[in-house]
Amino acid sequence: MHNIVWFRSDLRVYDNPALSAALQNGSVVAIYLLSQKQWDQHSVAPAKRSLIVGQLLSLAEQLSLLNVPLKVIACSDFSQYADVITEQACLLGSGRVYYNAEYELNEKHCAEAVKEKLESVNVMTQEFHDSCMIMPGQIRTKQGECYKVFSAFKRAFIEQYALYSRPILYKPKAQALIDVEMDLTALNEVVTESKWSSLWPAGEDEAHDRLNRFVEGHIKEYDIKRDIPSVDGTSQLSPYLAVGALSTTQCMQAALSLTEGRFDSGRNGVLVWINELIWREFYRHLMDEYPRLSKHKPFKIDTDRLPWKHDQALFNSWVEGRTGFPIVDAAMRQLAETGWMHNRLRMITAMFLTKHLFIDWRWGEQYFMENLVDGDLASNNGGWQWSASTGVDAVPYFRIFNPTRQSERFDPNGDFIRRYVPELAGLDSKSIHQPSLQQARSAGYAVPIVDHATAVAQTKLWFKQLSEPT
Ligand code: FAD
Repeated sequence: MHNIVWFRSDLRVYDNPALSAALQNGSVVAIYLLSQKQWDQHSVAPAKRSLIVGQLLSLAEQLSLLNVPLKVIACSDFSQYADVITEQACLLGSGRVYYNAEYELNEKHCAEAVKEKLESVNVMTQEFHDSCMIMPGQIRTKQGECYKVFSAFKRAFIEQYALYSRPILYKPKAQALIDVEMDLTALNEVVTESKWSSLWPAGEDEAHDRLNRFVEGHIKEYDIKRDIPSVDGTSQLSPYLAVGALSTTQCMQAALSLTEGRFDSGRNGVLVWINELIWREFYRHLMDEYPRLSKHKPFKIDTDRLPWKHDQALFNSWVEGRTGFPIVDAAMRQLAETGWMHNRLRMITAMFLTKHLFIDWRWGEQYFMENLVDGDLASNNGGWQWSASTGVDAVPYFRIFNPTRQSERFDPNGDFIRRYVPELAGLDSKSIHQPSLQQARSAGYAVPIVDHATAVAQTKLWFKQLSEPT
């Protein structure tokens, strides 16, 4: 008889609550259900698929050191998961299935169906909270509501951290050898490109090395460098968090080790990085609380009355990095080439799509998911709704980034633009942010597809009309 630990977006052996609990309660077989159709439905990017496959191979090795065989089983989609796990539980004679919670609506429904089906054959389930530092639903206002303003959420999070954050877990002890074979053949069905695995190498060791290097180095200047896309000022840990090669709890512990466990003193770089980890947490708690965020709905429901455009040609110019706004185009090309985009640029490009082109934020959200190695529904939706002013604690609709001013401020010498828009490499550091028509034409570069001032005025008008009584 072997119990099951069902791996999901938590592909690691260190600090994994479900795995640790399972190994303390008898012998264990690890299962991962792989559905490419489900990945298609959730717009999982090729770069992220490649990272998941690499991470599963690495996880299998790590688990084998614990004598836990990993079986990867191909499924059509979520609707098959309950049957497949139940079949495995019956085959293995499992008394219990352990797994970590996920907070997106489809994932929640999937886990509920798994639980129900297993219970119908008398197999118990045990769910753990892993991807949040504090369990969603725990941090409430005095009125018992979910916080909708980040600064208030952050205050409450910090106050409750010592009491309610889950403890960090170390690598569990190996179990005795069991007579079940590891089976990874289903991974052969996934076509991956080596480009992605060399850009984003998989493995828990890789994730830890990156975290350690960041904590020993760049974190100290994070507050100063995090907005400059031409330098490696951020951790680039998001892909590893997205597949669960690393937990936010591990990141927070690493940061707090530099502040003697304090949130209110220590180097500014560390405190600002901690702030970003709390943003991640905030969006996950919101996703758990508001199912509509998983259903392509805006948080501010009335913003669905805005006349969002669905103009494929305009959208394609943005996707292909041909808007005639160099910083926007450089950012979009960075995403296409590397599967990742700097946070400052995510804000600039998202705001450009929604506030200059007035294209439906859901188009941008989906395109990001289809291309980001760190695609994560809660953070991506949060970031898009923040930028489009449709979300909780979003940027006020009238505060619209001027892409040229952003470029001058955060890429002053044009280094980042030169890297991704080589046709402009010969321009001086003043004109590179906004080439003249003549400069653009002779460089073979796009002329601006929209006039900043006109577009911004129109957008403000639409938002203003929305807030006026009808
Ligand atoms: P660091 O600056 O080193 O920050 C450390 C970690 O904190 C990140 O890895 C991430 O987990 C978290 N974090 C940082 N900033 C944010 C933020 N604004 N919101 C939530 N969490 C944050 N992040 C994703 O992980 N997946 C996404 O799909 C995603 N889509 C986004 C879309 C838009 C339009 C915007 C504006 C932001 C999006 N973000 C997303 C948030 C942020 O841009 C990335 O987390 C960050 O750029 C990742 O780089 P890093 O690991 O170097 O971050």
